[in-house]
Amino acid sequence: MVVVTKMNSIKVLIVEDEAAQMELLSYNLEKEGYRIVAATDGEEGLLLAEEEKPDLIVLDWMLPSLSGIEVCRQLKRGKHTHEIPVIMLTARGEESDRVRGLDVGADDYIIKPYSVAELLARVRAMIRRANPASQGQTLECGDILFDPEKFQVSRAGIPVKLGPTEFRLLSVFIGKPGRVWSRDQLLERVWEHNLDLDYRTVDVHVGRLRKALRQEGKSDPIRTVRSAGYALDIDP
Ligand code: CA
Repeated sequence: MVVVTKMNSIKVLIVEDEAAQMELLSYNLEKEGYRIVAATDGEEGLLLAEEEKPDLIVLDWMLPSLSGIEVCRQLKRGKHTHEIPVIMLTARGEESDRVRGLDVGADDYIIKPYSVAELLARVRAMIRRANPASQGQTLECGDILFDPEKFQVSRAGIPVKLGPTEFRLLSVFIGKPGRVWSRDQLLERVWEHNLDLDYRTVDVHVGRLRKALRQEGKSDPIRTVRSAGYALDIDP
């Protein structure tokens, strides 16, 4: 896979009171090429969100005085901040907490302890989803070329016509070739936590994507992993 990306200009605001966590987050995100703005409490986070206009906010749930939930609520009500995607970090895995986080407008959710790889994947996906065109990022997997800026997909040079949902599905798959995505993960990333949808929706759209990519007798690039999900695999 070839990733052509310019991330130098992408700014991530981290709101986290624990020094060790902050260091881990900023170290890894900086290594990926993001610019980091750090806030150690909710008040400062809200202020920096206004002042710095970050492209993404990584927000810890457990913060002194103003909680992450409250910060998220205020961000999503703010005239200048409501469009900034928020990934919430939390040790709480309860379904009700998860729903509460989403209720106040969090765009994604990571439960501690998380792996750095998972965090980075979520951050990348979120930035891509929030503003794919701003990055000029073209992805390539085997003979599939994915150009989010032009909203174009081709296979071996031949244009592939995709609906918007199939396009988003492919954007998830092609971001991490070979990785197996569960239907839940796909629902989260492609349908953005729409709780009314079920696995059949995923299967139907994967089927459509598959059909579109198999045009003109090409091999099937999508692997079905029994009781696990789907992956995009292409031999170079
Ligand atoms: Ca904390």
